[in-house]
Amino acid sequence: MADLNFEIKSKDIAARIGKLKINNREIETPTLMPVYNPNKPLITIEELKKEFGVKVIMTNAYIILKNEKLRDEITDKGIHKYLDFDGIVATDSGSYQMMVYGAVTTTNEEILRFQEKIGSDIASFLDIPSLPDAYKPRAEEQLEITLARAEEAKKLNLNLIINAGIQGARYIDLRKRAAEEIGKNFKLVAVGGIVKLMEDYRFSDLINVIAAVKESIPKNRAVHAFGLGHPMVFGIAAGMGCDLFDSAAYALYAQNGRYITPSGTKHLHELSYLPCSCPVCLNYKISELDEKLLAKHNLYVCFEELRRVKQAIVEDNLWELIQMRARSHPALISGIEKMVEHGEWLSKIDSITKTSAFFYAGFESNYRSEVVNAKKRLQRVCSENLIKIHPFGEVPAEICDIYPFNCILVPERLENEEGARGQGSGIRDIHKIKKIMDYQFGSGAGDLIDDKVRIVRSRKTRRIRWIYDAKNRRELIASVRARDHLIIPKMNLAGKLHEKFEYPKLRVVVDDEALPFVTEGKSVFCKFVKEIDTDLRCGDEVLVVDENDKLIRVGTLHLSPEEIMDFDRGMAVRVR
Ligand SMILES: [Zn+2]
Repeated sequence: MADLNFEIKSKDIAARIGKLKINNREIETPTLMPVYNPNKPLITIEELKKEFGVKVIMTNAYIILKNEKLRDEITDKGIHKYLDFDGIVATDSGSYQMMVYGAVTTTNEEILRFQEKIGSDIASFLDIPSLPDAYKPRAEEQLEITLARAEEAKKLNLNLIINAGIQGARYIDLRKRAAEEIGKNFKLVAVGGIVKLMEDYRFSDLINVIAAVKESIPKNRAVHAFGLGHPMVFGIAAGMGCDLFDSAAYALYAQNGRYITPSGTKHLHELSYLPCSCPVCLNYKISELDEKLLAKHNLYVCFEELRRVKQAIVEDNLWELIQMRARSHPALISGIEKMVEHGEWLSKIDSITKTSAFFYAGFESNYRSEVVNAKKRLQRVCSENLIKIHPFGEVPAEICDIYPFNCILVPERLENEEGARGQGSGIRDIHKIKKIMDYQFGSGAGDLIDDKVRIVRSRKTRRIRWIYDAKNRRELIASVRARDHLIIPKMNLAGKLHEKFEYPKLRVVVDDEALPFVTEGKSVFCKFVKEIDTDLRCGDEVLVVDENDKLIRVGTLHLSPEEIMDFDRGMAVRVR
């Protein structure tokens, strides 16, 4: 039977670099599926494989079904053999044709069975894409049909992974309802009917629609942004949690003489120079760019932007990339304004600590998920020694060495008062440690640190590195991580946290089945987590306990609590 596995390897905001395995073919997300039109291939499969390293493509099963010659040949050979493509083949059902021409001459069942017959890896049922501004009762009516067809697709129980379309025009309540129903039943879902939003630069509507879907489905669903093929939105859409994009745009734009850039689109006749270094732009003059060459350039630019987005995810600076892209068009600023309105939701998925500095890159920086999380945790700490650090507000001087306060870079106008940074230097180490404990674990955690603990500084950086027990002065109770200055408790201190904070605070509850491995120090995997404190964040230090709340180990949370509960693959806690 067709099988799909999805696992998070790296994340930033709600974006994830994922391992998506379908029928033993594996791809890394986020990625782009170039659309291949068998009637009019601008770029050949051979070129897609060799020049672009494409591992997943999308083609249209309806076009094949309606072309007798193609249909017979592909039914006979199978789609992979016909295309000579060993990667993942996704097929569309004709929904697009339905939107353009008003009707199609097939049924939901026929097109699904046909996709199974030709061996598609990813198939689509015949959902009805409503235009964004469709009259609401009409959009609702169309959604009812889409949901009935989804139900039919599920009941047919075919040997296919179904890319289940979520419709509902621009109506958030409809989108949420559709997402809840579809999200329950399908592992791969598609946010459909959004191409018009992209083409018309309605990025605030686009972000609202994506958010409505993402907030209503389990976190382990792979999400395809259907038809979103312009690189200027890859960053923001990935940041909202989209995993798959497809592009017919690279070819369609080329047919109209349109040259795609990561910050917008130009007509060839507007260009005096080629602002790109892809093989096409390096080797040809503007006057030589025909449809095919232009299509290739467009595709190069798409893949380049995807690599940039992925690098930003592993580097933890996707916010900065999204903000930079937003500066290319006010409509994208509207998009990011909508994005930060979902800051509360994003803050639950995002990490509490990051490897990159926090660059202030515009007013939206004030509402980034890191700021939402930090402001919440600042309420845990009492201090009379407050300093203003933009955009967090008043921060106790004792904790200004930790992430994100230690690495925020703001323009001069917003800089802190003279000497504010240095204020931490006059404070005794023990006071710093106590306040960091409060911030990290909750009010009162600092009381667990005896005034007489032995504190050892790093010889190189002169910063606090190790904390030893007050009585047994050789017993290490915690270390301080160099990168973000957060406290990493050892078992001794973890035991005190466990005693002080009641269940389920700070805890990850592990299934009995996994206990022997976890006791040995092996990582906790998502599928063995029974319960988790939802106030925790990815990157937090956590107490791993058994079902009777006995403390087993300490470790670092690898994903957000919601992701851990929804995923059954991948690491949940890196145990020490
Ligand atoms: Zn180029």
